[in-house]
Amino acid sequence: MPKVFNWQLGRRMHFPYEEQHPQRQFAAVFNINRCIACQTCTMACKSTWTFSKGQEHVWWNNVETKPYGGYPQHWDVQTLKLLDDAQRRRGAQPMWNIAKQENGQAPYGRYGGLTLFEAAPSGEQVLGYLPSDAEWRFPNIHEDSSTKADGAGSLGISKEGAQLPHHKTWFFYLARICNHCTYPACLAACPRKAIYKRPEDGIVLVDQERCRGYRKCVAACPYKKAIFNLQTRITEKCIACYPRIEGKEPLTGGVPTETRCMTACVGQIRLQGLVKIDHKSGQWAEDRYNPLYYLVRVAKVALPLYPQFGTEPNIYYIPPRWVPRPYLRQMFGPWVDEAIERYTAPDRELLAVLQLFRRDRRIIFRYEIKEGPKVYETTIRGKPFTLYNDTVIAYGHDGQELFRTTVEEPIHERPKERYNSI
Ligand code: SF4
Ligand code: SF4
Repeated sequence: MPKVFNWQLGRRMHFPYEEQHPQRQFAAVFNINRCIACQTCTMACKSTWTFSKGQEHVWWNNVETKPYGGYPQHWDVQTLKLLDDAQRRRGAQPMWNIAKQENGQAPYGRYGGLTLFEAAPSGEQVLGYLPSDAEWRFPNIHEDSSTKADGAGSLGISKEGAQLPHHKTWFFYLARICNHCTYPACLAACPRKAIYKRPEDGIVLVDQERCRGYRKCVAACPYKKAIFNLQTRITEKCIACYPRIEGKEPLTGGVPTETRCMTACVGQIRLQGLVKIDHKSGQWAEDRYNPLYYLVRVAKVALPLYPQFGTEPNIYYIPPRWVPRPYLRQMFGPWVDEAIERYTAPDRELLAVLQLFRRDRRIIFRYEIKEGPKVYETTIRGKPFTLYNDTVIAYGHDGQELFRTTVEEPIHERPKERYNSI
């Protein structure tokens, strides 16, 4: 089997196809700290793409309450257990060596365990499972159910209430879409070669003509985002609203525009983009003032979901600061503590870049910061913190300014005659 380089794992790994990379990669950052589970994203997607007969259970975007919720039910726990059992059988050590950062080639260190490709049973390309019909029944099961699980084995609902910075009872909302993975498990498993990754933007699509509905992709995708259509009897998945990315949907005005789930986000948790890929290394090319490059590769506040699966997912999460760290480490890898530390006491640049979320639906390709006056001083966990009212300017694909915004939110005073209107 060929070997490919997975930068999230800091090492080469087995994959059924030779390494190939798109010119740009569809990617996004979701800030979990801000999600309110309003499900506007879910309904924006549903009402655009999956409202037909046979798609009743199809939610390309879903928002689940962790730790108990999941769609399909227990998708992550089941895959983690399969992987854990395989590692045990083969004596693999699923540990991260964070000392091995190797000049930016391995920003999270090196993962020593098996990936789902490496743990595949004989005759299969990926270790996975097909969810039962019952597991697809409840898209939002356990909504708002909290736990006192602290990562040390205690479970159940806490009667003690919440204490910052680590709550004794907790839950959080995990918004999920297809990760348009660099090494898609769905693509690896398809015996018909019906799944492909677009060379221009890395979006992963199912060729509806070639698919025969074997559901190998449904079993293989660890995130369970390849979903079988019960009417057409073939598989469908998130298409990353590619007519919008291409600027071909009428509403886009001809410019690359973010997906429906991103633009609808009420909590302003999402920022989507197209990152440049370096052809030689297959990694993200250095693009210092692309906001996604900055958040993922420079500030390192946004992390991949279950990187140990090995698919190199392209949706990144700013982890929730109130959740016990052992739970977050198994979900987002070993960099969680540093990411939360930086997010909770952001430096001047990070604070400015965080203002870019959901100010515009056009894709931001570059930002620039104009320094503003000092407005506030305090201490955060004993360290001095200064707030500057900087202005951040966003530029589009053609270098044109899209918008500018400030760190301090402007105050709009409502005129008297409009006090009781919206
Ligand atoms: S998340 Fe699943 S369906 Fe999407 S590209 Fe990755 S493996 Fe394929
Ligand atoms: S629209 Fe945004 S805030 Fe609302 S559930 Fe979706 S991701 Fe969360």
